[in-house]
Amino acid sequence: MDDRQLVIIGNGVAGITAARHLRKRSKVRIKVISSESKHFFSRTALMYVYMGHMKYEHIKPYEDHFWEKNRIELLHDRVEKIDFNSKTLQLQKGESLSYDQLIIASGSKTATHGWSGLELQGVQGMYSLQDLQSMEDSTRNCKNAVVIGGGLIGVEVAEMLVSRGIKVDYLVRESRFWGNVLPKEEADLVKQQIEAEGVNIHFNTEVDSFFGNDSEVLSGVKSKDGRTFDCQFAAVATGVKPNVDFLKDSALEIEKGILVNEHLETNLKDVYAIGDCAQLRNPLKDRRSIEAVWYVGKMMGEVVAANICGKPTKYQPSHWFNSAKFFNLEYQTYGVVDASGKDSICWVNDKKNQLIRLAFDPESNKIRGVNSLGVRLSHQQFDQWLNSELTIDQVINDLEKADFNPEFFNLPFSIIKEELRSQLKPISA
Ligand SMILES: Cc1cc2nc3c(=O)[nH]c(=O)nc-3n(C[C@H](O)[C@H](O)[C@H](O)COP(=O)(O)OP(=O)(O)OC[C@H]3O[C@@H](n4cnc5c(N)ncnc54)[C@H](O)[C@@H]3O)c2cc1C
Repeated sequence: MDDRQLVIIGNGVAGITAARHLRKRSKVRIKVISSESKHFFSRTALMYVYMGHMKYEHIKPYEDHFWEKNRIELLHDRVEKIDFNSKTLQLQKGESLSYDQLIIASGSKTATHGWSGLELQGVQGMYSLQDLQSMEDSTRNCKNAVVIGGGLIGVEVAEMLVSRGIKVDYLVRESRFWGNVLPKEEADLVKQQIEAEGVNIHFNTEVDSFFGNDSEVLSGVKSKDGRTFDCQFAAVATGVKPNVDFLKDSALEIEKGILVNEHLETNLKDVYAIGDCAQLRNPLKDRRSIEAVWYVGKMMGEVVAANICGKPTKYQPSHWFNSAKFFNLEYQTYGVVDASGKDSICWVNDKKNQLIRLAFDPESNKIRGVNSLGVRLSHQQFDQWLNSELTIDQVINDLEKADFNPEFFNLPFSIIKEELRSQLKPISA
């Protein structure tokens, strides 16, 4: 028996992966604390609970008895403060708790922008279980809603609202959808998909304030250009930021997130940070210092467990990838694709519901990344091509090998290749 007390703040994918791997590798005493819920659930599936496809019980990946069986103690409480000198946590319910080693996996929270009226009932972000519950309450008799922010969470919330027959005005500050990530052609396809679902999307529209009636309940949103959008519910989906406020004014080094090295160690001995709340001091080339996605938390959870159990391991992710669904339009990206669309070639079908973009280095002609919409590509194949630094011509020649669609879903590869090659000539000339 190992008497070390290992405490993990946060029972999201990062904290729970760390706990599971620590248990596999050691006999340390493990406590996981979360203020959100007693049990781990899949945050990415919250929308399906609202839409009625699943119940909360279905999005818990482990049975409730799993934790006791694996000697992982769960505390449903909030850490108010940490005294890093005495290695003690102060909990909201009054208890204090000491640790030998601490993993902070406190995730993200909705980023807001100081608008007036944010406190009105009916205005909220969509991050947590509590957000889901308040969205449920606020939209019970809702006819019109506003969604703010052209990104992945915004489009999910729009889909949730549409599923209940609520009319949605979708306000996007930029001139196109997810403009800092998607090139124009991709953004146009997503816009078409969103509009086809009956959502009114308004680009170049920045929020000024939220206004309410006498009972402090939301009745509308005002934009900076003077328009008003009457609504009973408004979702703020303008990004997330690390949930680290409770750690401010301590010896822990924090920039946007908690600064960590490649072993996920903070500046303080025996204190680690992982998942959405961690910021890498030296991110790998073409990667961001904070990557708030599911698989990053999972990988970090495994790495931190190895490090704590005496197997020094660096966090070294492979190529960037991400996937999402914009209503029914599937999106995948691997490697690096510039949002400007520079140094890339792109095929879009006539109906404008399928797209493949290949990005490459114009000097060496080596493939750098791919975007797809409405087409499923093989992650494994692209990972291999990126690792072996294939040229763009080689990738076009072998493109069928990356087809990951069901058999009946025949992609017109000869047309796609011809189109891609025709765009390549002027670039490489
Ligand atoms: C609606 C939505 C959809 C998403 N969809 C996708 C997707 O499709 N694909 C994808 O890759 N990613 C998606 N993401 C992002 C992904 O869910 C996150 O990157 C991931 O869940 C972060 O995991 P984490 O363990 O770092 O933190 P979290 O899941 O945020 O867990 C942190 C936990 O710590 C708790 N906590 C924080 N501070 C304290 C404290 N002081 N005391 C006690 N407990 C505390 C929090 O309450 C929370 O429960 C989505 C996110 C949202 C909100």
